[in-house]
Amino acid sequence: MENLSQQYQKFGISEAVYTYGEKILASLQERFRQIDEVAEYNQLKVIRAMQECNVSEACLLGTTGYGYNDLGRDTLEKVYASLFHTEDALVRPQITCGTHALALALMSNLRPGDELLSPVGKPYDTLEEVIGIRPSKGSLKEYGISYSQVDLLPDGSFDYEGIRAAIHDKTKLVTIQRSKGYQTRPTLSVERIGELIRFVKKIKPDVICMVDNCYGEFVETKEPTDVGADMVVGSLIKNPGGGLAPIGGYIAGKKECVENAAYRLTSPGLGKEVGASLGILSSFYEGLFLAPTVTAGALKGAVFSANIYEKIGFPVIPDGTQSRHDIIQAVTFGSPEGVIAFCQGIQAAASVDSFVTPEPWDMPGYDSQVIMAAGAFVSGSSIELSADGPIAPPYAVYFQGGLTFPHAKLGILKTLQNLIDKHIVTEDFQKA
Ligand SMILES: *Cc1c(COP(=O)(O)O)cnc(C)c1O
Repeated sequence: MENLSQQYQKFGISEAVYTYGEKILASLQERFRQIDEVAEYNQLKVIRAMQECNVSEACLLGTTGYGYNDLGRDTLEKVYASLFHTEDALVRPQITCGTHALALALMSNLRPGDELLSPVGKPYDTLEEVIGIRPSKGSLKEYGISYSQVDLLPDGSFDYEGIRAAIHDKTKLVTIQRSKGYQTRPTLSVERIGELIRFVKKIKPDVICMVDNCYGEFVETKEPTDVGADMVVGSLIKNPGGGLAPIGGYIAGKKECVENAAYRLTSPGLGKEVGASLGILSSFYEGLFLAPTVTAGALKGAVFSANIYEKIGFPVIPDGTQSRHDIIQAVTFGSPEGVIAFCQGIQAAASVDSFVTPEPWDMPGYDSQVIMAAGAFVSGSSIELSADGPIAPPYAVYFQGGLTFPHAKLGILKTLQNLIDKHIVTEDFQKA
């Protein structure tokens, strides 16, 4: 058998880059062991939920037409509710993406005259148009729903005084984004989310606390609904779809919140009763089954890349040793060329579309040009090895995914090789 280093050389990865990677990996064994332990815990949690809900072979089939009495769909929603310890859940292929799931949760639970509050700063880019921060047709703002925001303090902590002052009788729903998204603030741990929810509920017990859970599922052993969140919302082409779900989103939470969302997704009067699952459910079940270990692989990739780039001298968030609460790794290159070289390296490591070269473009929903590397089996899936970066200061790239750690490792080594080939990283990196 040829040795590993020779296999990497076939991808254009030099002996020096490979050796550097091995040195970094050797220092991460304890981190990886901890990640595996969380995956093991969550694997058991998923299997237990499936057993409790009597998932059967018949659940893997689908319905057509109206989709009345869709056993697989209804059971899957029970599995999600059991997993998140919530009263109910809505898990549907008709929810087209994460933004749609979040918009649905917001639009169905807010009424004209209500106010939405984000106590953790600016939400994810695509939500700016949902809320109406950037004018958009059909935004919450157009429907007379106002928005207020309290930024995190410079050290990343909650501005409790500011939050207290922002909560008033119109405040109906508080949205808390777990992951940093396209920002360089820290991602919130489930524990910190719990502290924030307790604070908000003490001021106004009936306010709905919603968590944008994108990229956070299965990273910890607890989920935000274990610490008081009324609703968690996410995308199935991220962590909980395990790379197999080809579309979909979920909302899990209080019965009332989920019901509101169901009536908005389909129609008043119909709610959860309609919505054929077609042939898609086996991928939802199997993807959920694989999600804990897939998430662990992605997490190892994130930790590996943080350590690779931190030691060379690029700012990374989270840093190489920090605890993790989502699968995203930000690396700041400080120049458009660095962001572009990184993304092109990720693309070159893909099994699908490895031969194309990504370029920055004006992507809908984002206010600056964005470059995206995504050679994925599911188009745009970011639980698969992917990277994106807005072409704007501080020129940070956001890297995530990898259905297996070996793929994430290949991608990261390829980015470093690319940065060396483009003279953005000098040969000195070996001394790091
Ligand atoms: C990905 C993401 C979204 C939006 O999901 P899409 O599926 O891309 O529409 C919203 N919030 C956060 C934090 C995300 O990471």
